[in-house]
Amino acid sequence: MAKVYYEDDADLSHISGETVSVIGYGIQGRAQALNMRDSGLSVIVGNRDDDYRKRARSEGFDVYDIHAAAEQGDLVVILIPDEIQAEVYREQIEPNLKDGNAIVFAHGFAVRYGLIWPPHAVDCLLVAPRMPGGYVRDFFLRNDGVPAFVDVKQDATGKAWQRTLALAKAIGATRAGAMAISFAEETELDHFSEHFVYPLVIGALALAYEVLVENGYTPEAAVMELYGSRELGEVLIEAAKIGLYQMVEKHASPACQYGIHAYARKLFSQNTQQQIQTIIDEIKDGSFAAELLDEQRTGYQKLERMMVESRNSPMASTEARLQEIITFKT
Ligand code: NDP
Repeated sequence: MAKVYYEDDADLSHISGETVSVIGYGIQGRAQALNMRDSGLSVIVGNRDDDYRKRARSEGFDVYDIHAAAEQGDLVVILIPDEIQAEVYREQIEPNLKDGNAIVFAHGFAVRYGLIWPPHAVDCLLVAPRMPGGYVRDFFLRNDGVPAFVDVKQDATGKAWQRTLALAKAIGATRAGAMAISFAEETELDHFSEHFVYPLVIGALALAYEVLVENGYTPEAAVMELYGSRELGEVLIEAAKIGLYQMVEKHASPACQYGIHAYARKLFSQNTQQQIQTIIDEIKDGSFAAELLDEQRTGYQKLERMMVESRNSPMASTEARLQEIITFKT
């Protein structure tokens, strides 16, 4: 049974006299910095001189160059894209760390693949929320929280776990639950979702759209049926609350239930199991990590090509039309 920490397990006073330097004011950086400040922590931001810096400043933070923010921080929270963390860390953060500081990650990638090694006198912590920053902020404002995975890679000060849990509390994670797993497990599970679950869902929807339209179905109706009505999103939220099969039993007619159970068995075969195994192997042996770092080094050219292709797909224009003709209030 996984160990989970809640509000009473965490005490903000362990870090309340310390300065938290949030490096990066993007998706996670903004949300975490705002939540931590609202929780009473002393937060500064480190960012290059650009729009993100302006936004942080306009939202009331003292913003510095990354090296200067790292120099002032007791806890240095690294919230920039994973594949550039090692370079930024080596050049701007590590030379400014002092004994007793902590470096904090929201994803284990750089540590799991040995790109960053914490100096021996510095704590190395993981507080990894399980949702994008927008939700981390929205849930917090509703007095709710997004769950997180937490870990301590290195406890140099003897108070690394107290610091980890205090940070998890400050961003709202202990309201829902902060689950202790290793940096490696967090990284591998996160990549697994991104390499199997999301591509499976998104790829299936895109392919289904194409084949349905080829078969003469109305494009807008196809998108509406596949996910545009929001049914898919709503039932997945319900499934997270009560269980996948409970959701099917509670909401689906016998015809729907039969279809789901029968086709789940027909569609998934031994071959799918082998594909899952290959995905796990490529994460574990570092081949995906190497591919990602290569992609970053070559300026994300493949990513850009794939994004342009998706943006220009017939399904994307059908989506836009559907959003104009079907109107939700929220
Ligand atoms: P973002 O892509 O939103 O990060 C943007 C920030 O990184 C900006 O402040 C940007 O500043 C800065 N940045 C980008 N490139 C550079 C560079 N070369 N040098 C210095 N700063 C740079 O990242 P996320 O918030 O998505 O991810 C941050 C961390 O959080 C990652 O470890 C990620 O895995 C983790 N995480 C992300 C989640 C998500 O849903 N997005 C969920 C949970 C964890 P500038 O404008 O100067 O480029």
